[in-house]
Amino acid sequence: MARYTGPACRLCRREGEQLFLKGERCFKEKCAVKRRPYAPGQHGHRRRKVQGYGLQLREKQKVKRIYGVLERQFRIYFKRAAAARGVTGENLLAFLERRLDNVVYRLGFAASRAQARQLVNHGHFLVNGRKVDIPSFQVRQGDTVELREKSRKNALIQGNLDTAQGRGIPAWLELDATAFKGRVLELPRREDIQMPIQENLIVELYSK
Ligand code: SF4
Repeated sequence: MARYTGPACRLCRREGEQLFLKGERCFKEKCAVKRRPYAPGQHGHRRRKVQGYGLQLREKQKVKRIYGVLERQFRIYFKRAAAARGVTGENLLAFLERRLDNVVYRLGFAASRAQARQLVNHGHFLVNGRKVDIPSFQVRQGDTVELREKSRKNALIQGNLDTAQGRGIPAWLELDATAFKGRVLELPRREDIQMPIQENLIVELYSK
């Protein structure tokens, strides 16, 4: 599946807020949003009032960028969310949260979703005891996500687990760090997703 390969900080600067795409760097003074709090490009300093369609578009772009999903796949998630029972916007966020790369990041095995995606791609994780190397794989209630035996000495992953302890694990997941194993206790609910997202704007955009 295709992915964005340009500079991550540019995406945050475009949205005008921290999207936490780069792991540890995002919490330091080096963060580009803190150092250059204006949009990228030649006209980035210009102040533009965004409203209506512009607001909806920016919210959609922001969520796509947070989860590292491109337009085509995002639309597929939206269609599935609209067809599912319940509130479309909340369903959409739940589908995004249930991606295996997001779960690996949330459990603290990776410093960012982009890194989690790469670790999953490289086959470091087992779901219910079987290797899964598809970052978009949707976890279900009761699934276990485990670091492969061979990868447990990986210094990068061990370092990530140590630093992620302060970040906390969402209530819908559980981690046994000594066994390098996480479990999906329940499906994510809206209140488990703490990021400042107005999903209703995305629903309005796609409902036109
Ligand atoms: Fe965004 Fe992190 Fe770069 Fe800051 S350091 S601009 S939060 S990706």
